[in-house]
Amino acid sequence: MSQRAGRRTLPAAIVVGLCVALAGCASPGPLTAVDATGSPSSSASASPSAPEPTPSDPPASPSASPTDAAPEPAPPPEPAPAPPAPAGFDSGQRSIDDPASLWVVANKLRPMNPAGFVPPDLAYPSVENANGQPLRAPAGDALVAMFAAAAAEGAGGMRLQSAYRSYDTQVGVYNGYVAREGQASADAQSARPGHSEHQTGLAADISAGSSCILAACFADTPQGSWLAQNAWRFGFILRYPADKVPVTGYMFEPWHFRYVGTELSTELHERGIRTLEEFFGLPAAPGYAG
Ligand SMILES: [Zn+2]
Repeated sequence: MSQRAGRRTLPAAIVVGLCVALAGCASPGPLTAVDATGSPSSSASASPSAPEPTPSDPPASPSASPTDAAPEPAPPPEPAPAPPAPAGFDSGQRSIDDPASLWVVANKLRPMNPAGFVPPDLAYPSVENANGQPLRAPAGDALVAMFAAAAAEGAGGMRLQSAYRSYDTQVGVYNGYVAREGQASADAQSARPGHSEHQTGLAADISAGSSCILAACFADTPQGSWLAQNAWRFGFILRYPADKVPVTGYMFEPWHFRYVGTELSTELHERGIRTLEEFFGLPAAPGYAG
């Protein structure tokens, strides 16, 4: 898309120090606020119901022209050639296991395999980047377009807070939480090494650059609100919604967006499915297996 859109550079690098300190996906501060807004209260039967199977084969349309009068012998009943891409969405067209796949599903039950996976195409998107971390190229390109659109549509400027984190970096982040708050608290806020979506290079923590950085109140900023409504247009999804904590295993993170490509993000949007786990019929992942 157009690359001209006015990019408002936010005044300051003042908060950078903060961001570095919060190199984890979540800051400890907003926890109470999260509970306030993100209580997954009601949803009595939070049914992680398996997504209904897409109608893989539409009723074969009679391909032979009805005017056909030629008295030919019945053609051999050979298997019909694969119907030309049915209208239904092919949810199996990309791997959800391969860490290099744009659709990989990483959660507390689905660690990276191999654990030390490093994405092949890391690059630095030309946006304000607090921690100077790269993203995979397609995710970075989409992020640039998304930030430009947000500014053009009046949502204001945005900043990339954190992006790709290596296995070793995550060791430090997670162990820091454990040391400060104990393992249970650490697990609610930070992924164990090898389980972080940030290791895929497809996850971006986004801020308005001024306040509510990696905090639940980001949801109420113009930027957070715009992203929640529009990220799907650019191939991103809000990965940890407030009402899906039992499915994702993570508290509400209105700043954490995962790139899956526009084909899948559009499908999710149109069908009103909010998590990858539910879309692909995977078990909820509220905690680690062991
Ligand atoms: Zn994150």
